[in-house]
Amino acid sequence: MSDYKLASRQYKNENTIVKVGNESIGAKELCLIAGPCAVESEEQLDEIAKGISELGIKFMRGGAYKPRTSPYDFQGLKKEGLQLLQKASLKYDLKIVTEVLDTSLIEEVYPYADVLQVGSRNMKNYQFLKELGKTDKPILLKRGMSSTVKEWLLAAEYILLGGNEKVILCERGIRTFDNSVRNTMDIAAIPLVKELSHLPIIADPSQGTGKRSLVKPLSLASIAAGADGLMIEVHHEPEEALSDGFQSLYLSQLEELVAEVKKQAQLSQRSLNLESKIPHII
Ligand code: PEP
Ligand code: MN
Repeated sequence: MSDYKLASRQYKNENTIVKVGNESIGAKELCLIAGPCAVESEEQLDEIAKGISELGIKFMRGGAYKPRTSPYDFQGLKKEGLQLLQKASLKYDLKIVTEVLDTSLIEEVYPYADVLQVGSRNMKNYQFLKELGKTDKPILLKRGMSSTVKEWLLAAEYILLGGNEKVILCERGIRTFDNSVRNTMDIAAIPLVKELSHLPIIADPSQGTGKRSLVKPLSLASIAAGADGLMIEVHHEPEEALSDGFQSLYLSQLEELVAEVKKQAQLSQRSLNLESKIPHII
């Protein structure tokens, strides 16, 4: 198997900083992305967007098209979900991170997304990665749940080769023999990717653990290991969520997490990209 080139540290020594409008991912300031697993309704998204914007978070996640293991599970609100994301983004001044499921949907999702998310299940969809390489939008490339770090960097290479240099990697846990958690968060992959590549890497401890109580400790561990940011699932009523409620934080827990991540960031000579209206988080 040939090695990656454009994604390597040898090719480019300085860290890549991905610009998303006036925000940056991969710079000294850590980026926080929070929001529901799926966009479910206008009320749901408004509550959550309001909560995260009060914390000063600049990026909101939310799936309008959901890749579900079972075809009987909620598949997302699709176009309506994209429109709801846009509405909330304008109201609360949030950048939108949302998943694009395949090539046929790039055109539809493109105008609504500030960052196009490529899900774990799609990391090896090479034809799709080539198409994303032709776009000019930042791409959040999740690690395939059964992929090695080398395969992941080669997937990034497909996007870079197309001319799109705005790739953000996202460690979201891998499958191991241990089924006591949904996935095994590969913390070692974070500093390893930093050695091997100039691309920014963030962590998703929500998919990475599948368990609400583990999201904060793994968030702190990821930042300590050198991650450039976090993607966190949050819901105003997690028990009612249509997907991934069990791993979604309550809004009050997100506030605690942000306060602790801020302290951890300082220990790592980093700061948080936040404009909080809540005094102890400023
Ligand atoms: C998600 O972010 O909700 C998601 C489906 O992620 P992954 O592709 O990592 O499973
Ligand atoms: Mn999810």
